[in-house]
Amino acid sequence: MVEIFVEKKVREISQLIKKKEISVREVVEFFLDRIKKFDPQLNAFLYVCEKEAILQAEEVQKKINSGELQNSKIAGIPIAIKDNIATYKIRTTCGSKILENWIPPYDATVVKRIKSAGGIIIGKTNLDEFAMGSSTENSAFFPTKNPWDLDRVPGGSSGGSASAVASLMVRLSLGSDTGGSIRQPAGFCGIVGLCPTYGRVSRFGLVAFASSLDRIGPFGLYVDDVADILYHIAGYDELDSTCPYFPVPDYSKEIAILEEKNHRVKIGVIKDFVEADGLDKRVRDIIVLVADKLCREFGFELEYVSLPTFKYAVPIYYIIAPAEASSNLARYDGVKYGVRDDSEELSEMYVKTRTNRFGDEVKRRIFIGTFVLSSGYYDAYYLKAQKAITLLRRDFDETFKKVDVVICPTSPELPFKLGEKSQDPLKMYLSDVFTIPSSLAGLPAISVPAGFVEENGKPLPVGLQIIGKQFDEVSVLYVAKCVEKVSGCAGKIPKDLI
Ligand code: GLN
Repeated sequence: MVEIFVEKKVREISQLIKKKEISVREVVEFFLDRIKKFDPQLNAFLYVCEKEAILQAEEVQKKINSGELQNSKIAGIPIAIKDNIATYKIRTTCGSKILENWIPPYDATVVKRIKSAGGIIIGKTNLDEFAMGSSTENSAFFPTKNPWDLDRVPGGSSGGSASAVASLMVRLSLGSDTGGSIRQPAGFCGIVGLCPTYGRVSRFGLVAFASSLDRIGPFGLYVDDVADILYHIAGYDELDSTCPYFPVPDYSKEIAILEEKNHRVKIGVIKDFVEADGLDKRVRDIIVLVADKLCREFGFELEYVSLPTFKYAVPIYYIIAPAEASSNLARYDGVKYGVRDDSEELSEMYVKTRTNRFGDEVKRRIFIGTFVLSSGYYDAYYLKAQKAITLLRRDFDETFKKVDVVICPTSPELPFKLGEKSQDPLKMYLSDVFTIPSSLAGLPAISVPAGFVEENGKPLPVGLQIIGKQFDEVSVLYVAKCVEKVSGCAGKIPKDLI
């Protein structure tokens, strides 16, 4: 049974359900059993929707029996949702004590779309508080572990969603990515993580961190899986004004067309990564090897490209993201949402609630954000950072005149040990050096497993990042599939979890 759920693509599992070779309930129970067995050691879930999932399974089964959902690629498939995405009547904490008891009265658009395509919401996954972090250690509840080595972090902030897929507790999950929070954990956990173009997927119902950068995207074991769920969640939404009317292609069909004609792509290798601080040589070697194989096996053309502003991305991000966060998080005041630490005085109640309920990293961002937005500093920091983003975007535009996609490692390093960086915020921030540039430019990017490095007898995954032009998810996914083929790393689950 495990083999089927590892080897088959999500669409094939859904097909087995439609052909009545397996029932929706059996599929849901298979994954619920695995969650029971493995989550106590991984801590990927904040809440498992056991009863709700069984009920949904019955409803979906009825629909399938009556011939509905024929065109769905995810019908009957259990999906885990990062806990900063609103789920109707299901607690959504954002990994924070300030939202500890918040029960949304609505579904996020992505959740609504998953449900109408017959996907089953199986649980809410752990994250760094308000998605601020790169290790999931900033969760107010507990850290999540990396399935490849329980002493290591799964990455963050969507560490729960990544760990859950990498350990086969689900086959699909959703995360959010503001500066790398889908791609970095996907890389650390040896799975595929896609951050679609800004605006491709509605943010309605995603708890806001930095609204101009926030995106929702999927994790999967295979590129085809993330392409298929993207098809269902993408597209215009009147509830999100940054989500334009732009047709959603049938990604799997488009990719198949390119595969059929062995479409040759021109790839830009971002050479700035080689000079990046703290780049692990073993990571570099794997990326170079895979790039080389893409040329030899698929006839791709390779060009080394440089983006002069690449190295400024992290400092720009740590002005823009905290600025937006400080204003977005002002709404948590003990009045509008859930938890309040009461006091006789109104202003004291605000202070008490916010001081007691926000964690250290969130407070740090609120301080920085308030500072860079304050009068006198706004022009020097916030405005300047906005101008620098324009330059970065131009660098990407220039690059995309020469090449179709660009590649670099997802992270400069291997998954690090729990506790290794939690006391040093700057070190933690630097783990996103390669993911932040495309976040600022709003471009689609994916992390796909490229290889493994053996450390202390344990294989540790290395992710390769592919960045594409705006709304050109098709090219990004196509090249990712080619990487999947040359690396031979797709669909790998740690041996002791099989
Ligand atoms: N690690 C980055 C941060 O802490 C990115 C987080 C994210 O993408 N949500 O801000």
